[in-house]
Amino acid sequence: MEYSPIYMGLAFFGAGLLFGSFFNVLIHRMPLGLSIISPRSRCPRCENTLSWYDNIPVVSYLYLRGKCRFCAAPISQEYPAVELATGIFSTMLYYFLFRHTIQEQHVAVFFLQYATLVLLIPISLIDMHHYIIPDSFTLGGLVLAMLLSFVPGGLSPVEAFLGAICGGGILLFFALTGKKFLGREAMGGGDVKMLAWFGAVWGAPIAAGTIFLGALVGLVFSVVFMIRGEDGANTPIPFGPALYLGLCISLLWGEPLWYAYMSLF
Ligand SMILES: [Zn+2]
Repeated sequence: MEYSPIYMGLAFFGAGLLFGSFFNVLIHRMPLGLSIISPRSRCPRCENTLSWYDNIPVVSYLYLRGKCRFCAAPISQEYPAVELATGIFSTMLYYFLFRHTIQEQHVAVFFLQYATLVLLIPISLIDMHHYIIPDSFTLGGLVLAMLLSFVPGGLSPVEAFLGAICGGGILLFFALTGKKFLGREAMGGGDVKMLAWFGAVWGAPIAAGTIFLGALVGLVFSVVFMIRGEDGANTPIPFGPALYLGLCISLLWGEPLWYAYMSLF
């Protein structure tokens, strides 16, 4: 059965809005080590519990005009922004990546890839604010990817294992040599675990491409940071978002880029 791309795009947008709403909870609670399930969302000022109708992605923010229903405290614009960004990103994932594969993919393999990609948003925000990538994402994703490799229709368990070793190993090598030559932490352990996770989801070639392209993106980030940042070269670079961009580029254009690169020699 052929699904209408318009309806599928809308379904991905709606799913993205809901994920975005959940990501807001993750972004604010995970770095503080709080439970992501209970208590229910509350206003940080008056502590009144929010009803479901004050928790509808984007819509609630608009009809509440960005203020708490009870005490009129302003609600951060980051909430609707995260929801909308996740909705748009989710729709883009459908049109650019999953549109032609979703019907042949095993639903578990699709879900693993989709969840890994859409987590870009909370991981980037936590990394930018706190310079950490929580283990629950990276190690949790790695374990899930290894388990799902036993489901037919995706990578084999051996391919997933080699992908994890390749992604994590190359980055660990760079992290250790970087530390030796720069005399400071160039990259965190979170980045190493994240690449092991990506490798287990997509395999060794994509993991290697992600590191190469992610390093280029990171270089561009650090030049921008150096020009704009007050501490100059000492501004820490959040590598998580750079590696994610590298992943997206290698999933979309990895093969043509590889052939173009090889044709240079
Ligand atoms: Zn309030």
